[in-house]
Amino acid sequence: MSVHILPDAMLGILGGGQLGRMFTLAARAMGYRVSVLDPDPDCPAGNLADAHLRAHYDDAAALHSLAATCAAVTTEFENVPAESLRLLQQTTRVRPSADCVSIAQDRICEKRYIAQTGIRVAPFVAVEIAADLARDLSAYLPGILKVARLGYDGKGQIRVETPDEARAAFLQMGCRACVLERRLTLKSEISVIVVRSSAGEAACFPVAENQHAAGILELTIVPARIAAEVAERARRLALQLATAMDYIGVLAVEFFIVDDDEIVINEIAPRPHNSGHYTLDACVASQFEQQVRALCGLPPACTRLLSPVVMVNLLGDFWRNDSPAWDRLLSQPNVKLHLYGKKTARIGRKMGHFNLLAEDVTQALVQARKLKQTLERC
Ligand code: ADP
Ligand code: MG
Repeated sequence: MSVHILPDAMLGILGGGQLGRMFTLAARAMGYRVSVLDPDPDCPAGNLADAHLRAHYDDAAALHSLAATCAAVTTEFENVPAESLRLLQQTTRVRPSADCVSIAQDRICEKRYIAQTGIRVAPFVAVEIAADLARDLSAYLPGILKVARLGYDGKGQIRVETPDEARAAFLQMGCRACVLERRLTLKSEISVIVVRSSAGEAACFPVAENQHAAGILELTIVPARIAAEVAERARRLALQLATAMDYIGVLAVEFFIVDDDEIVINEIAPRPHNSGHYTLDACVASQFEQQVRALCGLPPACTRLLSPVVMVNLLGDFWRNDSPAWDRLLSQPNVKLHLYGKKTARIGRKMGHFNLLAEDVTQALVQARKLKQTLERC
């Protein structure tokens, strides 16, 4: 078992976006200090952290400095070079490990890995060169061609109906490695956030039901409106995967529920996840507190849900000429607003979110949708 790292140790994080910011807030609330590595001088976590190294993720000097000053290092996103994590790992504790992050940063590795643990994924074929699309593709069509690396929020995805469209889409992607994945008919989308310690103690948060708009998470509903048996199966699969990977840290698992309530893993993220933001206000401990604990070798904290909740993402679309009418949200006693301190709003950019807590989830959903519409109209 690894040694516990206790306050006021310095913790490092690669990436100072909103996830890095919420990690920083959780760590500092617990009495830890935080050092953020992010090239952007205005990144959301930069001015909240104790130290901000403004350098690229493969900058050897900055990585050495992080390793020398931090008791342990984590990441806020899967696209940091695995080599940087390997370098850090030589001299400091890194959670999750470079191996775990590298599985999640490439859709081909990710889907192959999940499939070989015996868990279902959508039928897929790796497309690394054009010749990979010369075979019989009927098992994968109609489908979605997704870039293997660096895709997020529906970016780097093209829907295709025919083999010719698949080939044209591959060219459109610049012949980068992709997966062609069969488009499934989804009953719903859910996710499970797992936390697993270095001693192998694991816990998972309640299942979240996710609704997307234009490929971006729009809202999360908890508890998910699915059969208890299906929710239990999803939690078991998420734990099974974390154990198979010998994963240490917070792992997000996105699932599709398809016909006959079969569950398929869509993708995983080696970090806290947008669909876990509800835990900030509706659970005993948030996903970010869990990230701190796992990094520090501590056991998972209680994941119990304290109240039904709906999380609504606030995208840059809400910012037209001015900031949204925050008083509409802040005048509601059951709404908790979280803004990420981003200076520029862009269409589709995640600027913040709010959590709305209510007696029951239907009521929460009705009120959350109404508030969202009010903001959109302002
Ligand atoms: P991202 O990394 O951008 O989140 P995802 O693979 O999760 O990419 O895809 C984004 C969304 O697109 C999913 O949440 C889902 O709504 C839809 N989608 C992705 N793959 C499939 C599929 N095989 N069948 C049906 N819908 C899909
Ligand atoms: Mg996704």
